[in-house]
Amino acid sequence: MTIPAYPSPKSDRSSLLVRSFSGHPPGLPSLFFTELWERFSYYGMRALLTLFMVAAIADGGLGLSTADAGRIYGNYTMAVYMLAIPGGFIADRILGARRAVMLGGTLIALGHYALAVPMIETFYLGLVLIALGTGLFKPNISALVGALYGRDDARREAGFSIFYMGINIGGFLAPIVTGFLAQSAWFKSWLESAGFDPTQSWHWGFAAAGVGMTIAMIIFARHAHGLPEPDSQDQDGLASDETPGQILRSTAAMLAGTLVLLCLVLASDIEGLTWLRWLFVALPIAGIIYAVRLPSDDAKRMAAIGVLFIAAMIFWAIFEQAGTTIALFADQLTRTDIGGIPFPSAWFQSINPVFVIVLTPFFAALWMRWGVKQPSPAVKFAFGLVFLATSFLLMVPAATLAVSGRVSPLWLVGLFFLQTVGELLISPVGLSTMTRLAPLRTTGLVLGLWFLAAAFGNKLAGVLGSGFSSSDPAALATSFLTQAGLVAVAAGLLFLAAPWVKKLSVSAR
Ligand code: GLN
Repeated sequence: MTIPAYPSPKSDRSSLLVRSFSGHPPGLPSLFFTELWERFSYYGMRALLTLFMVAAIADGGLGLSTADAGRIYGNYTMAVYMLAIPGGFIADRILGARRAVMLGGTLIALGHYALAVPMIETFYLGLVLIALGTGLFKPNISALVGALYGRDDARREAGFSIFYMGINIGGFLAPIVTGFLAQSAWFKSWLESAGFDPTQSWHWGFAAAGVGMTIAMIIFARHAHGLPEPDSQDQDGLASDETPGQILRSTAAMLAGTLVLLCLVLASDIEGLTWLRWLFVALPIAGIIYAVRLPSDDAKRMAAIGVLFIAAMIFWAIFEQAGTTIALFADQLTRTDIGGIPFPSAWFQSINPVFVIVLTPFFAALWMRWGVKQPSPAVKFAFGLVFLATSFLLMVPAATLAVSGRVSPLWLVGLFFLQTVGELLISPVGLSTMTRLAPLRTTGLVLGLWFLAAAFGNKLAGVLGSGFSSSDPAALATSFLTQAGLVAVAAGLLFLAAPWVKKLSVSAR
């Protein structure tokens, strides 16, 4: 693949970041910074969302119950990732990845600005706009990173590791900024002295997320023209051999399918219909069995993707409990002071992005050094699950100790360290592998499927976290142990399946 000439970053050439980009295609820095700021907006808003919904109306919040806020939060995060399927598909068939990112980013920015307006109508409008926009943006920015590398380019995995670091720089900075604007006494008193209503501080936080997304779009708009489209010879990235009628029909079918799936997941909350959650596993297994029997190489690669899909879903179901079980463990069962100085329990949420930033250069260098000799994605995923299982195993003694009072914050630091190592073996590796295995002109769609695993995982994390009770740490210890055991079994099965998955993937173009 030819890489178009591209301006190199004008920042300090000796900085660590610029050195990380050296040896990579020239399009990587702009995609890195675009995604950094998009994730700043996503995580900055997400950090406030639940707090804003449960805050009393007198304090500028919505005054919702924890259960209602939890449901809205869970369904919103699930929808954000699920809409990546139509988002990817529409980019493959109609818009191309660059235009999809532009449109998606614009919708996201409008969504955050809608949230900045203190009205209930604009609140729901904002959530819908952000979910729709992220569906268009997220799979396609990742597809554009994949398009920078040739199929067998050994730098692909390292490139995605660097891209993933950008995601987490945004994820680390955002809650600090939006939390400061929304919650700090200092900013509230400034609002008051400047003649603004201090209870509306939440909306300043949401506006900051909108500014982040606007910065992302300015960066992208300036550089998009130089970026190659995924799978395209002619730079439009579209499936040009289809008639408009065919495109219309397949797009309508795709939208209808996503809507049905969304309704099924929402229905799985209804008592008596919770068995629908088994579909999360049953559907990909059925897909694998179907695809593996087809003669084409594309179908075999899709079967390999199906196996990785299940592993990723299991990973996110445990990992995303950082926002449920682990957030509550941090708040109610962990000491939240250093040397007698208290700190907000929400700060624990920044540990994972910090570890990603610290550990990513190590992984990027490892993949670069091993080059073609590195383990297959399935083996990396299996190790990722091992680290994940170990992280919950670590919480068994922590929960047991919590029976006699709050425990040291170091337990959670250990948990996040192990989970981050697991995350780096699964998430950036998954992105890279999806862009490599995707059949021609389906990169966006396949990335949409990848994020569907995150959608199901987020939903399951909500379900698994809903049983948390700080008054019974012993039961919590049993729950951590059971979940660690199940993940360990999944890791074992994946190790066994890895040679088969590799065989299914080698036929990749
Ligand atoms: N934390 C990563 C991001 O925001 C991964 C999310 C996911 O794939 N579930 O991009």
